[in-house]
Amino acid sequence: MNYQQILEDVYQEIKPFEKDGKQADYIPALAQVDPDQFGVYLNILGGEHYSLGAYDTKFSIQSISKVFSLAIALSILGKDLWTRIGKEPSGSAFNSLVQLEYESGKPRNPFINAGAIVLADVLLSNLENPEEFFINFVRTLAGNPDIQYSQEVADSELSCSYLNASIAYLLKHHGNLENDVADVLHLYCMMCSVEMSCKDLAQAFTAFARSNEPFSHAGVNLTVSRVKRINAIMQTCGFYDEAGEFAFLVGLPGKSGVGGGIVALYPSKYTIAVWSPRLNGRGNSIMGLKALELFTTLTTESIF
Ligand code: GLU
Repeated sequence: MNYQQILEDVYQEIKPFEKDGKQADYIPALAQVDPDQFGVYLNILGGEHYSLGAYDTKFSIQSISKVFSLAIALSILGKDLWTRIGKEPSGSAFNSLVQLEYESGKPRNPFINAGAIVLADVLLSNLENPEEFFINFVRTLAGNPDIQYSQEVADSELSCSYLNASIAYLLKHHGNLENDVADVLHLYCMMCSVEMSCKDLAQAFTAFARSNEPFSHAGVNLTVSRVKRINAIMQTCGFYDEAGEFAFLVGLPGKSGVGGGIVALYPSKYTIAVWSPRLNGRGNSIMGLKALELFTTLTTESIF
């Protein structure tokens, strides 16, 4: 298969949509990002890789960080994690409060903000230095020691995280946060602020695509069973209230973030990361979604 040609064909086909949507601006620092960028990196397990555009430019991974914090929290608590967080798609916006209230403070899944705020709480309760642990885990997964937090993006989000603070207080009210709300929100925003390129993300996610070679780092063990579960949650919950549409159009487990990144994988075959900051109304990258849809159509390689 000529993957490089396919990536180039994909780019030509999606170019007419390059001005659709706009970048996230509810986090002031993200509003400063040049929205007219596109990059893609395809990592075929076993060696070859293909890329196009701004594949090496670092961007704010935002909610993609939730896959990493889930991997750590699941390794720490095992199946007890599911007493605090559900594993059903929410069908609601990523920062919705309504469902959390109805369901008495148990978030539907780890990839909506409420769930990821509980994940941050688990890391705070169980790790000596959660910030350092998290960034080292991500650096090891990606094989890149230069990956950093963006203090600027974290501070910017913290300065106006009224909705996430409301979610955290509701969780606290229901006894589902062990630590101080301010400490949990701080760690949550730091994890969202990590900056990675498409290349870094495609590399990091090979650990979730290679279930036959379990990954292990400082006590975090991505066993075959955990990888299976994390992929299942990516498939059903990775795209906010658009997870069904992503499964329908693309047919791969994956995760998106409001920084415009999307990473997806085909177990035992490849990982692919795309980035373009302009988002649709549900917080997913417009060019990114179109690129992945076309990629699995042209290659006829999806898990379905
Ligand atoms: N830090 C963002 C927030 O909590 C993450 C949202 C996202 O990427 O879905 O609003």
